[in-house]
Amino acid sequence: MTPVTSIKGYAETILDSGFEDADQTKKFLEIIVRQSNQLHAIVDDLLSLSKIEQDTDKEGIVLTRGKVKYVLNAAAQVCSLKAKEKDISLNIDCPEDLEVAMDSTLMEQAVANLVINAVKYSDPGSQVKIWGYEIDQDDKEMLAISVQDYGVGIGKEHLPRLFERFYRSDKARSRKLGGTGLGLAIVKHIAQAHNGTVSVESEIGKGSVFTILLPVSHDDEVS
Ligand code: ADP
Repeated sequence: MTPVTSIKGYAETILDSGFEDADQTKKFLEIIVRQSNQLHAIVDDLLSLSKIEQDTDKEGIVLTRGKVKYVLNAAAQVCSLKAKEKDISLNIDCPEDLEVAMDSTLMEQAVANLVINAVKYSDPGSQVKIWGYEIDQDDKEMLAISVQDYGVGIGKEHLPRLFERFYRSDKARSRKLGGTGLGLAIVKHIAQAHNGTVSVESEIGKGSVFTILLPVSHDDEVS
């Protein structure tokens, strides 16, 4: 059932019931508020996604050289409240002088989406690592940002489709946690807008590592 079906159904039930049972009316109204919040989150994520797509098509995304650590710190800050609620520590490891050409607001959003998931799908008291580092891939210098958790992990059968819109490997858990199923699709589009990629390695019960790879260019011009 989509949030819209649910909101419509409960609102109609309240109207039909004649407001006689105040407790039941309150319960239904609470469901409507919860489902409206869910709908709000989905609409926000869909708008984000289509804006990134449009900007990428129109070459409207401007990449400027900036410090990676600054972006990792900002993303961790956005997630710090959620992490604190679960007593999860966010550990950042990134050289101060590491730089890459990026849209830092979008990159912060991508990293924050990965960190929020890492917190959501981990047990209380565990830790989430956020790394920035350079690696060589096929003789090309790349900038990598990895987010590692020690949480529930993801089954191998889900990995190929994980970055698709609305794909959920664990439907019940995602719904309970208020997920939209769009967070990873947004990360993928942001990586692509930077001519980069995102990938995942995961093992059930052990945890997951998501890695964004971006091309490193040594001049200020980015093709
Ligand atoms: P959601 O809003 O449902 O979290 P996402 O697009 O962010 O949507 O993620 C898609 C699915 O991938 C989630 O529903 C969840 O099943 C799985 N997932 C994402 N990140 C993790 C993670 N760090 N650990 C375990 N499962 C994850």
